Amino acid sequence: MSDMIFEDIFIKRSQQKKKTSPLNFKERLFVLTQERISYYEYDVEKAKKKCLKGTVDVEKIKCVETVFPEESAPTERQFPFQIIYDEGPLYIFAKNDEIRKRWIHKLKEVVQFNKDLAQKYHPCFWIDGMWQCCKQQVKQAMGCRVLDTKNRGFFSNQSRRKSRKPLPPTPQEPTPPQPQPQPQPQPPPPQRTSSASGFTVVAEYEFAPRSNQELELRRGEEYTVLETSETNWWRARDKYGKEGYIPSNYVVKAGNGLEKFDWYCKNMNRSQAENLLKAENKDGGFLVRDSSKAGKYTVSVFTKLGGETVGSCKHYNICIKPQGLFYLAEKHGFSNIPELINYHQHNSAGMVSRLKYVVSNKTKNAPSTAGLGYGVWEIDPGHLSFLQELGSGQFGVVKYGKWQGQQEVAIKMIREGSMSEDDFIDEAKVMMELRHENLVQLYGVCTTQRPIYIVTEFLSNGCLLDYLRDSLKNPTSVQLLEMCKDVSEGMAYLESKQYIHRDLAARNCLVDSNGTIKVTDFGLSRYVLDDDYTSSAGSKFPVRWSPPEVLLYCRFSSKSDIWAFGVLMWEVYTLGKIPYELLTNTEIVHKVSGGLRLYRPQVANDRIYGIMTSCWQEKPEERPTFQYLVLTVEDLLYELQ
Ligand code: ADP
Repeated sequence: MSDMIFEDIFIKRSQQKKKTSPLNFKERLFVLTQERISYYEYDVEKAKKKCLKGTVDVEKIKCVETVFPEESAPTERQFPFQIIYDEGPLYIFAKNDEIRKRWIHKLKEVVQFNKDLAQKYHPCFWIDGMWQCCKQQVKQAMGCRVLDTKNRGFFSNQSRRKSRKPLPPTPQEPTPPQPQPQPQPQPPPPQRTSSASGFTVVAEYEFAPRSNQELELRRGEEYTVLETSETNWWRARDKYGKEGYIPSNYVVKAGNGLEKFDWYCKNMNRSQAENLLKAENKDGGFLVRDSSKAGKYTVSVFTKLGGETVGSCKHYNICIKPQGLFYLAEKHGFSNIPELINYHQHNSAGMVSRLKYVVSNKTKNAPSTAGLGYGVWEIDPGHLSFLQELGSGQFGVVKYGKWQGQQEVAIKMIREGSMSEDDFIDEAKVMMELRHENLVQLYGVCTTQRPIYIVTEFLSNGCLLDYLRDSLKNPTSVQLLEMCKDVSEGMAYLESKQYIHRDLAARNCLVDSNGTIKVTDFGLSRYVLDDDYTSSAGSKFPVRWSPPEVLLYCRFSSKSDIWAFGVLMWEVYTLGKIPYELLTNTEIVHKVSGGLRLYRPQVANDRIYGIMTSCWQEKPEERPTFQYLVLTVEDLLYELQ
């Protein structure tokens, strides 16, 4: 059975497949998998799924879009969306914009390789034998509005649709006659995969086993996953039949067929790509990365036009024609991305340069593993060397060091009396299970001696607050927004695990060598032994990052983290100013509870400031979720690129 992606109760409008069938609206349980959307009758009282009422094969979907709500629609039908497939439109009403957005976003991702994706759609309903937007009376009539993004994007409401820029950057130069691309082995077509064990993965990084329980990984090779019961360490078999544990974040499912190519840098954002290309400093250096819009791809190229020494980066979105052909230059379509890349390795075809050198991060920056090895949690202090002091914080000194002489680590040496140690040690195992590329990884603890040590991933660019204040020189809007995106993604992960940070702020984020931001010290504030820090009246309490319900009733939740995220965004856009700089903590408690909010930073436009203020809604339930923020920031980034 394939995996369920989403399950939600929606109102479904009857499809009126026959002219005489009635128009009605019924609650149905919708289940989305990689293969199909199924909807069921649902017993609300018993919370039970009943009989299957219908299905739509994902393969047959041509378009997924919002619809303008009907005039004077009841409150439960304010967030409609449409799924267009061979049997016409299926209209569904979500409870709120967030759920609608989530479904549209995911659906667009799973249908991205479908043949015959529509280029036009009807923005209003088909009612009583007529499209309400264009008044055409044939149900099959072609849509009357061009999809602004040729099925590439999605929108949370209609006003944003207008402001979207046309995509992609179309190459400007005339196309010279092209030599034929050299033949190359064909990659497999995109596959839909299931996450049950027994599936195939491709290693993205080399991994050297550190005990005989672990299995070596060689980049680009395939492995069969045998067991996934532990999130971070999977049991796998290599092609020689050898079995052992592998870090699950070093492999990707054999999915889009691109994983084995060195030029494909999954999960790399624009700034990271620019940093990597600039560091390589080669004219025609290139890589392919996931676009900020889920399920899409971008080619990033470095050029030293006319022999200039500094060089610059250009980014080209890979588009898909209605027939399913991929292209950068409209004249040259290819049935898959490797063919397209191969062609442009020989032909610039209007780009600033042909793709001359593969630039890859796969050889360099292997990500952190959860723990320093499979089952390693208690670290032998004899395996640590202390090399440099990084700073000191609430718990004492933090040092840079190495584990077993090789692996870089940061070591927090917990000053005695500063932490409720037994409680922390109980919790540390849970914290170690948390693994996300935007969270500072906890590697383990040394608890057999005093002081105890907390050993974490080391990030060479230090604390985000200092980085904003001292290191960033004329940052671009994309750079600032990408920082916010990094934090929102780490926080969305914590939110999905129902884990509350309680002290999110720029000072509790760190910056790695690529400029990626990672959130640190999540949940640690619960173990601080210092009344000045733990009491909301204390001088060290993070009053400036706290919402009214925390200041007044100490009510922490993911929604109080959202408030703090809004303040962190403000810190990013002011390059590290102190929030409410002229007010004392007591004044802040009073004024923020009375409705005062931070001002709009000069470099934040209305939409950015709109995100901040949405985090500062008085009522926690009116604030967005992190998952929603990630999508909103992604959307904004996509427009900027
Ligand atoms: P505490 O948790 O005791 O308050 P902090 O986490 O604030 O300590 O760390 C103090 C300083 O040490 C930070 O401001 C940062 O500069 C540095 N630091 C802490 N952890 C790391 C790390 N993992 N990598 C690099 N620098 C770090």
